[in-house]
Amino acid sequence: MVNGETFQISYYAKKHGKFITRNGKWNDKCKYWFSKSLKPLITYFDVDADNYRTASGVIGLREGELMATHNWCHNPDCHTYQTTDRVRGSGNNKVLRTRKIKIQDMSKGYYLQGWENHFCRVACFFQYVKLHIDRIIAIAPVREPSETPIKVEKEKYETWNYQSDENGNYNRVPRMATRTKVIGVNND
Ligand SMILES: [Zn+2]
Repeated sequence: MVNGETFQISYYAKKHGKFITRNGKWNDKCKYWFSKSLKPLITYFDVDADNYRTASGVIGLREGELMATHNWCHNPDCHTYQTTDRVRGSGNNKVLRTRKIKIQDMSKGYYLQGWENHFCRVACFFQYVKLHIDRIIAIAPVREPSETPIKVEKEKYETWNYQSDENGNYNRVPRMATRTKVIGVNND
């Protein structure tokens, strides 16, 4: 590796408990070395973390390549929607361009659903689903219902009714009622 060279590095990250791939850049402070127990190590500059990282158990090193940081919105009509943020070009050569999406780590942010890395908004996502629904269903068709074993229990609980009196006031009148409760069965 030479200074300034970029690469993709894949290794087992104990901290995350899984194999990860990161964008790296080589400089003077980067090195190949060995731990006390003679495990081969690579200290590299991690472009995404903006800091140095030491990797052991490296399973892949692709020189000259960086991972894509953005995707284009996958709705084929995205570039036809007339919004000012899609306008590119100058003078008489202006166009509406497909929106670019910054790729996020989907394991971070519990509110992320997974589609956000490929579509600029939910309407674009649904446009794509509408267009390709038959092929999407063909990936994993459902031809039989599934069943979840449960227990159903009846439960008594206290509630109330409202009754109006002769003065037109509403009063709470307590009563007992029954409801049906679905209880999951643990079948580990
Ligand atoms: Zn879009």
